[in-house]
Amino acid sequence: MTLADACAFAEAQGWPKFRGEQIWRWVHAQGVRTFDEMTNLSRDVRDQLAARACIGSLKVAEVQTSKDGTRKLRLETRDGQSIESVLIPFEGEKTTLCISSQVGCAVDCQFCATAKMGLKRNLDAGEIVDQVYLARTLLAEVAPERRLSNLVYMGMGEPLHNYDNLVRSLRILCDDKGAKLAQRRITVSTSGLVPKLERLGKEDVRPNLAVSLNAPNDEIRDMIMPINRKWNIGKLLAALKAYPLEQRRRITFEYVLLAGVNDSLRDAGQLAKLLRGVKCKVNIIPWNPHPEAPYERPAPAVIDAFQNECKRLGLPTYLRTPRGDDIDAACGQLANRAGESRTPLVPLRVRREPPPPPPVD
Ligand code: SAH
Ligand code: SF4
Repeated sequence: MTLADACAFAEAQGWPKFRGEQIWRWVHAQGVRTFDEMTNLSRDVRDQLAARACIGSLKVAEVQTSKDGTRKLRLETRDGQSIESVLIPFEGEKTTLCISSQVGCAVDCQFCATAKMGLKRNLDAGEIVDQVYLARTLLAEVAPERRLSNLVYMGMGEPLHNYDNLVRSLRILCDDKGAKLAQRRITVSTSGLVPKLERLGKEDVRPNLAVSLNAPNDEIRDMIMPINRKWNIGKLLAALKAYPLEQRRRITFEYVLLAGVNDSLRDAGQLAKLLRGVKCKVNIIPWNPHPEAPYERPAPAVIDAFQNECKRLGLPTYLRTPRGDDIDAACGQLANRAGESRTPLVPLRVRREPPPPPPVD
């Protein structure tokens, strides 16, 4: 519930509106998970609530810790689905949580482990928000000196395919009376659903935007991201150029580097040309392996050469070093694989031919 929903709920019970706000604040500002802790409510009200409602929609099923300190949380929904969030402590103060927006994903990017699950269902706003609260609790236990500073919607799923719950979760998390997350520290990553991007630009909540571009032209993007056949690079960039960016903000483009597919100097040149004049930066993500995917991570020298060429051409680029890849927690590795059942890597093969035609949206 948003704060407004909670007030409406209270009124529907015949309670004063402020009681809705009291309850909501306990949950979202104080982080309590039982009605008993709501000490400014009468015993009778607390009992009524406990009989009819519950707080929190997820249970922590498993926490895996990487050698680099990254923690992957496997969380269970009330209907027995599993999703994953990743808590990433960076050097210094920054601690980022990467959350899921769906169980699986329908977009079918050829390089992504989540795609292999297909789409099971959308998460509701409570399930999105609860990932933040459970991660905060874990952080308080394992690293009490740290605070969650950044939130990225880059886990399982395509957030813009779950638009209403995405926006609802942002409203709840950014509410000044609740968890008070700063919009400028939240990033929503999308494969580029053009109509939804246009809609997001008109909302009152304004997270940062990351767009999975992954290719310098339609030919390559069609091959690795079938969604490009519906909204190609031209349409995507037109929508992004029209997107109302807050002052001093830039769009982040993600570029998963796949050996022999999109990693040549020519690709770097095309990319720099494509993005000239767009207020942006590019995050280069060397492909993170997962079983049965027909790709390879480029050699370090190739990655360097690609980045240097982009920089030489004036495109700001950053290399994302994989975090938590030893526990399958790095970008594109989330697919509900439990620690002990991790499948060994199959021999890799570089694929250049187009994949079989997938459903587009
Ligand atoms: N669905 C959203 C957010 C989740 S995917 C989106 O696609 O933007 C988050 C990022 O992981 C995307 O930029 C995607 O391109 C990248 N990614 C997916 N699989 C990957 C892999 N195996 N290695 C590296 N990055 C990957
Ligand atoms: Fe879905 Fe993002 Fe993976 Fe593509 S990269 S399949 S959009 S989660």
